[in-house]
Amino acid sequence: MVAHLIGKLTDLRDTRACPLLVVKLGSSLLVGPDGQPREAWLAGLVKELAGLHAAGQKTIIVSSGAIALGAAQLGLPERGRRSLADAQAAASVGQIALARLWSEGLARHGLVAAQMLLTLDDLEDRSRYLNASATLERLLEAGAVPVINENDSVATEEIRFGDNDRLAARVGQAAGASAVLLLSDVDGLFDRNPSDDGAKLVPIVEQLDETIRAMATAETASGLGSGGMVSKLQAADIATRAGVVLAIVNGTCDTPLDRSLGEGIGTLFLAQSGAGARKGWLGGRMAPLGTLRVDAGCAEALGKGASLLAAGIVGVSGNFGRGDLVKICNVKGQAIAQGLSEYPVHEVQAIAGKRADEQAELLGYAPRAAVIHRDHMVML
Ligand code: GLU
Repeated sequence: MVAHLIGKLTDLRDTRACPLLVVKLGSSLLVGPDGQPREAWLAGLVKELAGLHAAGQKTIIVSSGAIALGAAQLGLPERGRRSLADAQAAASVGQIALARLWSEGLARHGLVAAQMLLTLDDLEDRSRYLNASATLERLLEAGAVPVINENDSVATEEIRFGDNDRLAARVGQAAGASAVLLLSDVDGLFDRNPSDDGAKLVPIVEQLDETIRAMATAETASGLGSGGMVSKLQAADIATRAGVVLAIVNGTCDTPLDRSLGEGIGTLFLAQSGAGARKGWLGGRMAPLGTLRVDAGCAEALGKGASLLAAGIVGVSGNFGRGDLVKICNVKGQAIAQGLSEYPVHEVQAIAGKRADEQAELLGYAPRAAVIHRDHMVML
């Protein structure tokens, strides 16, 4: 993750500063007031996304629209939002249509769409977080374009994100993206209600404090989706704390990426001190439940940004499960890093010091790429 290289909106186009971009679009952009998909607009956006791909930038799409599309097909009132049961039924119907729109649209540019439906729990529970994160990584490596939505048909009130803004921020974090782009129906964050005379667009937010929060009004919600500026600021908070920049831009024109990333129109929330914020997130969220001691060569490789491989582990202690936080110490016992273990303690003990080709037999299944992936590790 190289979010610290991003200081302005136009940097999001730079593949070195921003190798992986999450693009979130809301229901009101994708679905017209008649409940039909806005196919021409979508075709334009997909063309722009294909352009990013061709330039070497990977993208993950977070797409709403299932409830709005399904409600029209089922003839449900209030666009499917009268009750949770209606929304869930509408989402079941609409998600099929939504998936088809994306897979056909991307296929026209030779791109393969991959659907992932997530609930809040999938990204909050540590071991499921690792699963989602590993799947995203593999999909991106294989050249697919993940298209993500909340799994609305099973997500009940208590376990829902409810809006895809926060889902997009969490996805950005799980995927190790450099930036999250929220396509909205306004140009970005304004210093007061955008319909007031003299309201000014805030181009850059360095610190998301009370002054900034006070600028958000509920009136920016379009009525089709569930997010407004308030949920966008919550998303900005999640993303920037995890070291991921977030931008709110206007998606309503024909070429939204060109307008925002090309011309630099929108609001950019800077990552809260890059690696430091990520370290705070990983380092601060819980106490380590175990310790892995590594040899000198491995410690040096970690310092250069490598993932922790089993071959370098010389000692294992503690009682941890998959997804738990563990400390990594050098041979002198000094803590040098910490991160989320891909294996429970007994499996790390089994494969410690072993090469990849020896691990499958010891584990009884194909080993994961690392014991701790570098994206889930911070140096201390
Ligand atoms: N997941 C919902 C859908 O696909 C939309 C959530 C939102 O409005 O952000 O319809």
